Amino acid sequence: MNPALLLVISGPSGVGKGTICRELQKLDPTIYLSVSVTTRPPREGEKEGKDYYFVSEDRFRELMEQGELLEWARVYDYFYGTPRTAVNKARAAGRDVLLEIDVQGGLKVRENCPDSILLFVLPPSLEDLSIRLKRRGTESSDSIDSRLRWAESELPYYKQYDYVVVNDTVAEAVAKVSAIRIAEKCRPQNQKLVWPIT
Ligand code: 5GP
Repeated sequence: MNPALLLVISGPSGVGKGTICRELQKLDPTIYLSVSVTTRPPREGEKEGKDYYFVSEDRFRELMEQGELLEWARVYDYFYGTPRTAVNKARAAGRDVLLEIDVQGGLKVRENCPDSILLFVLPPSLEDLSIRLKRRGTESSDSIDSRLRWAESELPYYKQYDYVVVNDTVAEAVAKVSAIRIAEKCRPQNQKLVWPIT
């Protein structure tokens, strides 16, 4: 069994990370999409255990203190974190893992797991991002403004990532991420050859 990859997908809110991750998983259901823990209240239609595990701040702190989170960050007014055990289990079973997390989290994952691969999804333009956030219709106008401000501060981090994917269309972005995944699997350190080569 070849080693499983740990792929981190970051980028501003509304850029389409979620859609890209879901499309990738549709193409290859063996991909494990990590479900984060958050103190944010659920949005309409969001499901416990599918979109997030929704927890209180006390419970979040407990998980942090018990070392149950591979990384965590405060984003906007809430805490978000990646459950460590589920990620480890999936990788041990040979499944590539996708983490859809913010840049603070992405850089922490790189520290904790140096073999992780960091992908940054950029919008074609800031105007495009604003249109996408409004079209999504999940945020109030205050929240859209704060997400756009946050996006502007987050964008420069793309230089610290391994790959940049501009999300012109979902199909192209998914094709680019799939190509990156395939190329990463072809690295010598990600090969477990079945015959010995001296
Ligand atoms: P939203 O509230 O829109 O679902 O997510 C807000 C931001 O939090 C997004 O940028 C998302 O990628 C990020 N996020 C979601 N889960 C995690 C996580 O487990 N850790 C970190 N660091 N960020 C996360």
